[in-house]
Amino acid sequence: MKPNHLIEYYVGIDIGGTNTKIGIVDNHCNILIEHSIKTLSSQGAKQTFSRIWQTVQDMAKTQNIATDQLIGIGLGIPGLVVNQAIISRASNFSWGDNFNAKQLMEEISHKFVKVEKDVNNIALGELLFGSGQGFNNIIVISIGTGLSAGIIIDQKILSGVNGCAGEFGHIVVNENGLKCGCGLTGCLETYASATGILRETKRLILEKQTGILSKHFYHHLSDLEVHHIFDFYNKNDDIAIEVIEKFCKYLAYGLGILLNTIDPELVIFAGGVSKSADLIIQKVKTYLSRYALSASLANIQMKPGQLLDSAGIKGAASLIINDYRI
Ligand SMILES: [Zn+2]
Repeated sequence: MKPNHLIEYYVGIDIGGTNTKIGIVDNHCNILIEHSIKTLSSQGAKQTFSRIWQTVQDMAKTQNIATDQLIGIGLGIPGLVVNQAIISRASNFSWGDNFNAKQLMEEISHKFVKVEKDVNNIALGELLFGSGQGFNNIIVISIGTGLSAGIIIDQKILSGVNGCAGEFGHIVVNENGLKCGCGLTGCLETYASATGILRETKRLILEKQTGILSKHFYHHLSDLEVHHIFDFYNKNDDIAIEVIEKFCKYLAYGLGILLNTIDPELVIFAGGVSKSADLIIQKVKTYLSRYALSASLANIQMKPGQLLDSAGIKGAASLIINDYRI
């Protein structure tokens, strides 16, 4: 066994538009300490990255970990990343296009740094330490304010040449639909996301004014959250049933395209809506036979993610741990 001062640790950082989660993990990806700070990206990337690194150093000190024991830093961001280094586009941050986040963080920390789109990190984290252990080809579907996929082929992240791989939320399903944040119109994620579910439910409550969901929220629409809709689905509320069925049908449509293209062994459901993953999996399976080849469905497995609220930190740390695995 190595003496304590020789044990190696890894840093996982999940940079969000509002908050940044920072964790120090061991080589089994157990989190020793985690902390959340405001991202404050408008202060500039240098300021933000310097504050993050200072926080990492402070956290290490509380665990009696020397800076030399930190092997590297994995960064996850909600945007397109090229070559695990350059953020080509991230609408949440004002750092400009084609910003070299790896270079800046390496200059500030003097550590080895890798950067990747957050959902790709989660996919790698699930592969190494979560529901994807023992598999080689997996897709992680992240359903939150948007809809995206992390694709792992032969145990490697598929990032794409422009960082666009897995952006299946932007498959256009209705050219006459709503304008999407990406600039296209009628994207899948305007229907199959937490945002889409909430918008559709509110519309139906105002239009129909029937059922127990309407009774609870007609005068308090701003209090409505996605988990309420799943709760009322289980209570047989007509509006909740209509919304969830439509959501799962759209999700199955998009997933069918992915399955016919990638043909993975396993699909994992992560993100905010994944707390209802069991119901989503059951429903999506019933619709998938309309959209995916029967051969690709024959042996497909579907599971909820295991990393849950730690997925951002553990996924980012996995980027570095993966390089040092024997
Ligand atoms: Zn879009």
